[in-house]
Amino acid sequence: MPIYNGGCYCGQIRYELYLNSPNEARMSICHCKNCKKFTGSEFGITAKVPRSAIRITKGQTTRHESDNGSGTTLTREFCGTCGSGITEYGANAGENTYVFYGSLDRPDELPPKGEFFCKSRAKWMPEIPGLFQKQEIKD
Ligand SMILES: [Zn+2]
Ligand SMILES: [Zn+2]
Repeated sequence: MPIYNGGCYCGQIRYELYLNSPNEARMSICHCKNCKKFTGSEFGITAKVPRSAIRITKGQTTRHESDNGSGTTLTREFCGTCGSGITEYGANAGENTYVFYGSLDRPDELPPKGEFFCKSRAKWMPEIPGLFQKQEIKD
């Protein structure tokens, strides 16, 4: 079983991600306004994985909960010292969680499969070739 290692920028938080195959991680890009605010960037990029697949091995994440803008509570877990996002999950994520791409030590191993909320894509930001594009969550 491949193990993917990750952690925050300052190193206080470390985790291990256990997947049966790289395809078990559904990495996607999200251009919504909420992801822009949290990341301070044009998009958020996270991998949907089973919640049981990730194990924090060092430190403790800080949690922030709020309405995601459409009535669903969204929880984000991040490093309280340096602010790096580690995971996020909506109230309807079930047994899944979403791991932030850049928190992985070798993020290239789990490339994105698609883009969501393309209606909020910045005008200067081109579509990424080879990925599916959706205007919101579902088209
Ligand atoms: Zn940190
Ligand atoms: Zn988003």
